[in-house]
Amino acid sequence: MTGGVADTSDGPRIVVLAGGVGGSKFVVGVREAARRRWPDAAGGARAEITVIVNTGDDLWLSGLRLQPDVDSMIYALAGVNDTARGWGRAGESERVATELQAWGAGWPWFTLGDLDLGAHIARTGWLRDGASVTEVVDRLASRWPLGIRLLPMTDTEVDTHVFTAQGRMHFQEWWTRHRATLPAQGFDAPGIAQSAPAPGAVDALAAADVILFAPSNPVVSLGPILSVPGIADAVRAAPGAVVGVSPIIAGAPVRGMADACLAAIGLAATADAVGHHYGARAAGGLLDAWLIAEEDASLAGGLEAAGLRAPVHPLWMRDLDTATALAAEALHSAELDAHQTS
Ligand code: GDP
Ligand code: CA
Repeated sequence: MTGGVADTSDGPRIVVLAGGVGGSKFVVGVREAARRRWPDAAGGARAEITVIVNTGDDLWLSGLRLQPDVDSMIYALAGVNDTARGWGRAGESERVATELQAWGAGWPWFTLGDLDLGAHIARTGWLRDGASVTEVVDRLASRWPLGIRLLPMTDTEVDTHVFTAQGRMHFQEWWTRHRATLPAQGFDAPGIAQSAPAPGAVDALAAADVILFAPSNPVVSLGPILSVPGIADAVRAAPGAVVGVSPIIAGAPVRGMADACLAAIGLAATADAVGHHYGARAAGGLLDAWLIAEEDASLAGGLEAAGLRAPVHPLWMRDLDTATALAAEALHSAELDAHQTS
């Protein structure tokens, strides 16, 4: 277990499903909301927070295993992320990347920062030594006292590929090289149907008082997590309340190209389309409540008619306080539900 999780005796067990940059902003808010609401003597929270992170956009590059969402989560929780650029490590340099380009190695449009490479080399070495992905993530996460327990969604490699008119390519090539401008005809994650949830993931969902869906990309961040056989069923069957936060505000993603991903699976980039996509547990879906933005308040009625409570709240995470307020609201929504157990 990761450091920083102290006495949880009378605090809740919280599980968050999350992708990278958007997901980690929300998890930082959850950690802070828990600290403020259930403070312990050591400055942490009497809450046990487990984050199940997407590994669907992992990749091999120049012989190294990269896990973009795992690293974004760790860097943000450790406070070593580059908040100005929005991704990667603060104080990053690119000496090795320059050499790789001179050698003609790797992808020139996919920069590997020097500090980032430290993580990739450590990870790849441990994998080569026979460690599982779960063990590797735990070792990476143990460098800093994150205050949460970090689990990958699965130990299996299930990298996402995208079908386009130019052929099939790795998700990172479509996302980073083409900036998601090539129309995607669909996504494929070879092997995901045969994968299993990471050890502890299903147990965490079954023991959770609250399950939160971060406002992560519904298609390529939460989609892969929910496609690992057993995870969606565990969410549906969970005794705790399940609350999601919309990544779409007023018909557009807050940041990034999630609209291109939604279009590829035939969904509009609207808060209600994504809410209906996850669906109400009351109707066989995944969520009890779906937080939508004030700009989308007119959509609440349709969501409620489908069995989803749709609290309206500011959804912009501009800084720690706004992210904390959003997380506190998500936790608050969970407690209104009959599923809440403590
Ligand atoms: P990635 O894996 O690094 O792409 O990050 P995620 O999938 O976890 O999150 C990306 C999503 O976060 C995007 O679709 C954004 O719309 C959403 N997002 C980013 N910032 C905010 C915010 O402040 N509020 C909300 N509600 N969503 C956000
Ligand atoms: Ca991602």
